[in-house]
Amino acid sequence: MSQLALFGGPKAVTLPAGNIFDWPIITKEDEDACLEVLRKGGMSGTDVTMKFEEEFAAWNGVKYALGFSSGTASLQAAMYGVGIRRGDEMIMPSLTYWASGLQLFSLGATPVFANVDRDTLCIDPADIEHRIGPRTKAIMCVHYVGHPCDMDAICAIAKKHNLKVIEDISHAQGGLYKGRKLGTFGDVAALSLMSGKSLATGEAGMLITNDRYIYEHAMCLGHYERMTEKNLTCEDLLPYVGLPMGGYKYRMHQLSSAVGRVQLKYYDARCEEIRRAMNYFWDCLEGVPGLRAHRTAKDSGSNMAGWYAAKGLYRPEELGGLSVTRFCEAAAAEGAPASPGCNLALHTHPLFHEADVYGDGKPTRIAFSDRDVRELDADLKPSVDIGALTYNIPWFKHYVPEIIEQYAEAYKKAALNYKELLPGDHGNSKKLGGFHFFKHTK
Ligand SMILES: *Cc1c(COP(=O)(O)O)cnc(C)c1O
Repeated sequence: MSQLALFGGPKAVTLPAGNIFDWPIITKEDEDACLEVLRKGGMSGTDVTMKFEEEFAAWNGVKYALGFSSGTASLQAAMYGVGIRRGDEMIMPSLTYWASGLQLFSLGATPVFANVDRDTLCIDPADIEHRIGPRTKAIMCVHYVGHPCDMDAICAIAKKHNLKVIEDISHAQGGLYKGRKLGTFGDVAALSLMSGKSLATGEAGMLITNDRYIYEHAMCLGHYERMTEKNLTCEDLLPYVGLPMGGYKYRMHQLSSAVGRVQLKYYDARCEEIRRAMNYFWDCLEGVPGLRAHRTAKDSGSNMAGWYAAKGLYRPEELGGLSVTRFCEAAAAEGAPASPGCNLALHTHPLFHEADVYGDGKPTRIAFSDRDVRELDADLKPSVDIGALTYNIPWFKHYVPEIIEQYAEAYKKAALNYKELLPGDHGNSKKLGGFHFFKHTK
């Protein structure tokens, strides 16, 4: 009989998971913080949010932090803050969640997509420069599923071409690149705090920067209550005191800021345990053909932050060409949460080549640009192919070696017995993964 559970063998995962996957960790302290806001009737206030901002800025070692109603809003404000306006372009990875750049449309600007690197899954610095045009304003760096971007290379390109750098740290809050906090390399960073993320507070976002100009311009879009003479130093904003210049309302809900203050206190310690658990998982799989860890090198000073939405790198050529789909089928039968793919490449969605969102009589993607940026999508095949080279792995929150070993064994069994899997392999479907992975409840 086969060793593989898919063919009737014993399952690799037999132990109950317990609380190893539970997230976020909510204690009485979080509950009490919420109750205090509710009983005060302070849900729409800003006092708790401002305390959270102060603590968040200090934690990152930056001058300014600004709370938002979502990560999407905070990233839009970051784009506006660095000066992206009608007709401008921003270079961003093709492979990321849509809110790393779709907000550009609302600013009258256009995304230009670049490939991601197949080892880091982050924007490939070697694929940026040839996409720069006369209207390129900024580069968006997404530290994808916890892995830091190559910030040395990206910042050098930005400096050479006088571009702004925005970091989307929605997947990597508190992470390090060469010993320094992510979010402090670019001109500005913004992030989601929604409850699926590693720093999870509810629907909320945050922007951080050391630049007063960016801070105030990010504020003016949707923080009318902060548009006061006392808060503003930028002359171009002063005439508009009292109203939100973008016509948005982006204030953070104070139940989220209250939870955020508590979560932040324990976040570093909790992430350290996550990294210990996840690193142990990958140590167990070291040397298994076809499987590569998606993680930073040991003594690099970089890390995987809270290892959000953990992924594995798959190399089918080492397994006789076995598809990642068939591999995952076998690992799932062993009891592992294995499924192929990651985010679908954004440029493949019709919204980015056909949709006329604002009635310009032509696709929005080109309506605001003086060149057809869709032509630059032609060589993005490497980003499309990433789906067949990635799969989900368990996102452990606690270091429980005997459980982690069993999950590692599930993937290992599938890889080592690949020859048995080849005959029933029907290959991958055209699209692996999705444009989003939203789940309402656990
Ligand atoms: C979740 C996410 C966002 C958007 O954040 P929301 O809080 O959901 O609006 C932006 N960028 C990335 C990479 C994300 O994963």
